[in-house]
Amino acid sequence: MESIKSLAYEVHMEELAEASLRQHIAKSDYSSVFVLVDENTTVHCLPRFMHKLGMTPNAIHEIKAGEVHKHIGTCSLVWEWLSEQGADRKSLLINLGGGVLTDLGGFVASTFKRGIDFINVPTTLLAMVDASIGGKTGVDLGALKNQIGVINQPQMVLVFPEFLETLEPRQIRSGFAEMLKHGLIIDAAYWNALRTTENFADGKCIQQSIAIKNDVVCQDPTEKGLRKILNFGHTLGHAIESYFLESKTKPTLLHGEAIAVGMILEGYLSHELKGLSKLSLQEIKDTFLTHFDRVDFTQADIEAILRLLIYDKKNSHGEVNFVLLQAIGNAVTDVKVPENLFEKAFAYYKEV
Ligand code: NAD
Repeated sequence: MESIKSLAYEVHMEELAEASLRQHIAKSDYSSVFVLVDENTTVHCLPRFMHKLGMTPNAIHEIKAGEVHKHIGTCSLVWEWLSEQGADRKSLLINLGGGVLTDLGGFVASTFKRGIDFINVPTTLLAMVDASIGGKTGVDLGALKNQIGVINQPQMVLVFPEFLETLEPRQIRSGFAEMLKHGLIIDAAYWNALRTTENFADGKCIQQSIAIKNDVVCQDPTEKGLRKILNFGHTLGHAIESYFLESKTKPTLLHGEAIAVGMILEGYLSHELKGLSKLSLQEIKDTFLTHFDRVDFTQADIEAILRLLIYDKKNSHGEVNFVLLQAIGNAVTDVKVPENLFEKAFAYYKEV
């Protein structure tokens, strides 16, 4: 499959990914090569990855799996490990894992000795089509998502769809939510193709989603304008994700599951404020509720989620800015939403 050129690096897929990795290491004269895994990718992905790598890394480090470990404490452990292993400015860190690991590993590499090279090898659908692309790295601060981080590009991103064979269906669906978002914000034909196929996790769809995200990122790497459209569904989605993460009584909600709710809610806001048609709004709701169970929200939940909204990092000057849709495939940024619409959006979500 053809590679996709990004800012200062390329996204390679399948056989080309393996060849590019070996070539890159052969020509880069790294003093040492380190691999970061989590407790699941060490079992499911590392053995296959070692074949692809074709050399023995200096050391491999395992972190605990899951969003609750995406914090500065885990970074400290990885920085200390790198330091103990004698990593220097010419070392390479390879991040083998889902979005938690590529976000955290990218941040660790970007800050260790003021920055060492890193390569992302995403192993979840969400990390392949989204988290590993675009150079956003970082960790959560308490329950607040992605509050600490830097934008810094990897040397390359290597996508091997075969890693998805061991991924739980629920995790696959989580990545699917981001792919559907790519269609909603920029490509109506892709949205239609995705919502009517069962093979959304194949190489072709993955490549198309990467191409869409990459195209947006290349036009606006530091999120001054266009890149904000990637946040569709994420303003409310992140607040919902944070709330569920913090709560001791709520079930876990995956990133994609939270933003699937966020996209229905923000679809409703789009209909109210930006002329998204009733038909399109219904199509968005039906599509997400076909793939994702409806989440239960009590009135107290909704109030707490709305309080969390103000912490969202996209707020500027105390106002909450939204990305909304004028139509499927056509997003607008920096929309201020009157507060009274939030409750109505949740009411629409709950409506059967
Ligand atoms: P994750 O990294 O927690 O992975 C999900 C689970 O799958 C984990 O338990 C992991 O150990 C396991 N796993 C990973 N690969 C596997 C495989 N091949 N087989 C079996 N199990 C495997 O979560 P995620 O959904 O990949 O990523 C979510 C994170 O991505 C969030 O923290 C979110 O904020 C971040 N994100 C970042 C960006 C960005 O632009 N940087 C964009 C979107 C999301």
